[in-house]
Amino acid sequence: MADVVRIGLVLPDVMGTYGDGGNAVVLRQRLHLRGIAAEIVAITLADPVPESLDLYTLGGAEDYAQRLATKHLLRHPGLQRAAARGAPVLAICAAIQVLGHWYETSAGERVDGVGLLDVTTSPQESRSIGEVASTPLPEGLTEPLTGFENHRGGTVLGSAARPLAAVTKGAGNRAGDGYDGAVQGSVVATYLHGPCLARNPQLADHLLAQVVGPLAPLDLPEVTLLRRERLAAPRRV
Ligand code: GLN
Repeated sequence: MADVVRIGLVLPDVMGTYGDGGNAVVLRQRLHLRGIAAEIVAITLADPVPESLDLYTLGGAEDYAQRLATKHLLRHPGLQRAAARGAPVLAICAAIQVLGHWYETSAGERVDGVGLLDVTTSPQESRSIGEVASTPLPEGLTEPLTGFENHRGGTVLGSAARPLAAVTKGAGNRAGDGYDGAVQGSVVATYLHGPCLARNPQLADHLLAQVVGPLAPLDLPEVTLLRRERLAAPRRV
């Protein structure tokens, strides 16, 4: 790792609904608060995707925008190379679909994905909308996850991908399946907006620790308050 941790914000011009770009800001801020230098590198449709960054975040998107992103990531495979050497990748909502084998848009068109995740996505009968709470499954993640979802696509995992969490409120990957997200290699994907890492600091530190090593705890009362409020929030549609 270089002196400055470099956080890739991948295609914020087309992927970043509901403030998902805030995940990169949270990662940078949690490093700054511990005295570790960090910067966000925004990669737009005008840039090739660099493979040298320390970690990467991708946000949600509307169907058309996520198609543009998919084509760009396939044309410039820096993210795939970075993931292959173990760089952490956080993928939110549309990004779990984009990183899969393929997804079908709400209009029924099938688009080839990036293939980093053993998942496929097809439209559900109705959109999944509202607050989500879940119990994370990977070792080291002990705090419930909170976020909100808004997606038509329903994602099914193959055997190489493990779910990120068991849903206790909301739909997650596909209504009725009971799980949210996918973990495969260094990729962590979830349907949770929020931004996800603003609501789930333990997940943020879990990703950062893979880059900088174990981190001292951070006590941020406003985050504790936000979590308490959101975990108690009813699901409204
Ligand atoms: N367009 C995708 C869907 O509806 C993802 C939406 C999102 O990222 N919020 O399934």
